[in-house]
Amino acid sequence: PNPKPFSLSHQVRNIELLFQSDLQRLQIGLNVYLYQEEITVDADEELLSQVLINLLKNAIEALDEQDNGEITLAVKQSGNTTLIEITDNGPGIPYDLQEDIFVPFFTTKSQGSGIGLSLSRQIIRMHGGELQVYSQPYAETRFTISLPSTAGNF
Ligand code: ADP
Ligand code: MG
Repeated sequence: PNPKPFSLSHQVRNIELLFQSDLQRLQIGLNVYLYQEEITVDADEELLSQVLINLLKNAIEALDEQDNGEITLAVKQSGNTTLIEITDNGPGIPYDLQEDIFVPFFTTKSQGSGIGLSLSRQIIRMHGGELQVYSQPYAETRFTISLPSTAGNF
């Protein structure tokens, strides 16, 4: 891993472009809110990008069969912490599964690998941050990432 300061705002805009055609095809709305114009984080750029892609893919897969699918990606810096929230209005996650989803190889999908969330949590923790889920079954799912301003040495 190679943590160094980079523009998270820029990375988020690139990822938005990456998913644009999928979202259009599936008629899923993506709202991106950058609370500050320029948001810099000290992290491994490739790994953080992988985490955001994993979470967006999961949100899209959750909305796959649904009308009026909406995803919100919000990023804000507050004090020494950067907060990233990815919310979808999909089917949600049953309360009794909300910790299991972070276990390696846990999947509810016929073609799933079940590694996305366990790997993502590992990457965020490696940066001294946390990845959590808040989901209300049949309503919405929100994944939150908190990252400290300085990743430290790893
Ligand atoms: P995979 O996507 O290969 O199944 P993940 O580790 O990415 O593996 O996700 C594990 C499980 O968590 C999924 O199979 C699904 O049951 C659940 N999950 C993840 N994200 C969402 C979401 N946004 N909405 C509903 N369920 C989700
Ligand atoms: Mg996944």
